[in-house]
Amino acid sequence: MRKHLFEGLIRPPFTERSPAAGDAAMAELATSLDRAARQRLGRSLSIRAVDAGSCNGCELEMHALNNAFYDLERFGIRFVASPRHADVLLVTGPVTKNMREALERTYAATPAPKWVVAVGDCAVDGGLFAASYAVVGGVSAVVPVDLHIRGCPPSPTEMLKGLLALLEQANAERRAP
Ligand code: SF4
Repeated sequence: MRKHLFEGLIRPPFTERSPAAGDAAMAELATSLDRAARQRLGRSLSIRAVDAGSCNGCELEMHALNNAFYDLERFGIRFVASPRHADVLLVTGPVTKNMREALERTYAATPAPKWVVAVGDCAVDGGLFAASYAVVGGVSAVVPVDLHIRGCPPSPTEMLKGLLALLEQANAERRAP
């Protein structure tokens, strides 16, 4: 028993080491995104997540944006509970027949200017579930999509890069004569 206790004190943990805190590239990306949102909207970006039928893999990556490592809210970007407060709808999964109306109503409730981002391969065209009797198809089969972010699932960094590209394009279109 004493041997086990002693080993427990000196043995390193079996779990993976956590990534280094304060990822500079991530911070730069999020700061650029917040700046682009302020240029376009005059304030920070508000995001509403919509699960239209995913396996939850994409949600896990999306939720990571709010965890202690990514901590997106420190840059002013936040997830909101209602589409009425949202600028961007981040939609995951193939759209199932059961979720079709909910997605349409969420889109209708979001005030303009609004953007729809389809997150993950399933959101592009149904992905793995495309042939299912319960699936309508990708997000663009139900509501207009401004950006597709591919991956199964895409990483939080890829989601941020996609959002930044979207807002930079919106700013460029606004400046164009
Ligand atoms: S893209 Fe992959 S992780 Fe995302 S909902 Fe589809 S199967 Fe799941």
